[in-house]
Amino acid sequence: MIDSSDVCTYCGALATDRDHVVPVAYQGVRYFTSSNWVWACSECNSFLVDQMLVTVQDRAAFLAERLAKRYRRVINMPHWTQEELSELGDRMRMEVQRGLKMKRLVAQRIENCRIVSRHGVPA
Ligand SMILES: [Zn+2]
Repeated sequence: MIDSSDVCTYCGALATDRDHVVPVAYQGVRYFTSSNWVWACSECNSFLVDQMLVTVQDRAAFLAERLAKRYRRVINMPHWTQEELSELGDRMRMEVQRGLKMKRLVAQRIENCRIVSRHGVPA
């Protein structure tokens, strides 16, 4: 039923869930109509549970803050030059490179949330 090509409306990660844009707790509606939900990744969807935010823009702004807070350490990782990386042992270098890759992915997800919070979902 879920098409793997769908991405999270908020952060752009792989979507696995459907997010009720007016939360179930506030509209009292548990079913999905064609217009009361958007695709979301499981992390964004779990952050949004029971948040009284009724527009995609407001939900995206909330997520940008939450993601920035959760991944604060990753985001604050210092930049490493190629020269600095080459001075590390293999194992340490792989760890640092893994962290830097995660930093790029998280920064991209947060930026996507900020774009959606400003402009909404592209038609
Ligand atoms: Zn997401």
